[in-house]
Amino acid sequence: MTTIAFIGLGNMGGGMAANLAKAGHDVRAFDLNGEALARAAEAGCAPFTCAREAVAGGDGVVDAVVTMLPNGKIVSSVYRGDVIGHAPSTALLLDCSTIDVATARNVEAAASAAGYAMVDAPVSGGIAAANAGTLTFMVGGKTAAFARAQPILSVMGKAVIHAGAPGAGQAAKICNNMLLGASMIATAEAFAMAKKLGLDPQTFYDISSKASGQCWSMTSYCPLPGVGPQSPADNDYAGGFASALMLKDLLLAMDAARGAGADTPMGARAAQLYQAFADAGNGGLDFSAIIKTLE
Ligand code: NAD
Repeated sequence: MTTIAFIGLGNMGGGMAANLAKAGHDVRAFDLNGEALARAAEAGCAPFTCAREAVAGGDGVVDAVVTMLPNGKIVSSVYRGDVIGHAPSTALLLDCSTIDVATARNVEAAASAAGYAMVDAPVSGGIAAANAGTLTFMVGGKTAAFARAQPILSVMGKAVIHAGAPGAGQAAKICNNMLLGASMIATAEAFAMAKKLGLDPQTFYDISSKASGQCWSMTSYCPLPGVGPQSPADNDYAGGFASALMLKDLLLAMDAARGAGADTPMGARAAQLYQAFADAGNGGLDFSAIIKTLE
């Protein structure tokens, strides 16, 4: 059993912290939102009134600090303001938020200079996977830090993969989600056009799912209701992965592409289309709802 400070108990962090507590870890929880903190307490975590208290915990008591926060600016300010220099230097630091690669590298460098081991460990899988403990973690960090992170992340996920050096977890996450955003739009486009050409959507699915157009967006997450396995389309596009979060990841991908000099025309177009979709008030709908703009 280890003692783990957990900061950021929202949609994702709430379930992740609960799973650590359920597995017998001593979880010291903090969130700015009182309701989120109360839910974590109900799930077996010890609530704290500030991040510094949660991570400090006396002499070497805290073995690890996990964060699950909205964006890079907040991650940077929490680590620089409340974690580095306040948690014991023996504590392993794990940031599971989705943030930009540059901030992930900068925060790791600051932590490392202060004597901490740190990994960036963003996740694939939504709220249901966070609650069920079946997330996929893509981890950036030094080999020794990854080895220490693995048993903690395994409690919250079904797969823990070392992507490479610090920042590589975030790089893998945004490349994957850029591909997902573009492939969802392409899938939606194909279904919308098939319908306009007089094809029955189920027939098109039966053919394309066994032909070269097959992809995850079609066969695991079909954007059309009543076709393929159960997906948010069958629930009026509620739940699932919000379009606003897909837009966040695509904008992070575009930033990273600019920084790396990568040419990403499909990713750029996907970012434009999700921006327009979110601007029209659809940010809360699942990202497969983009099909509505193409039908
Ligand atoms: P959320 O907004 O539900 O949770 C974030 C929590 O952080 C909130 O409870 C908020 O009060 C808290 N917080 C903000 N600033 C804080 C601070 N300074 N100190 C302490 N707590 C603070 O967001 P979420 O959906 O849980 O997402 C968290 C991260 O996971 C994001 O980076 C997101 O991109 C990523 N992610 C989300 C999903 C998803 O499906 N929701 C999937 C994969 C990855």
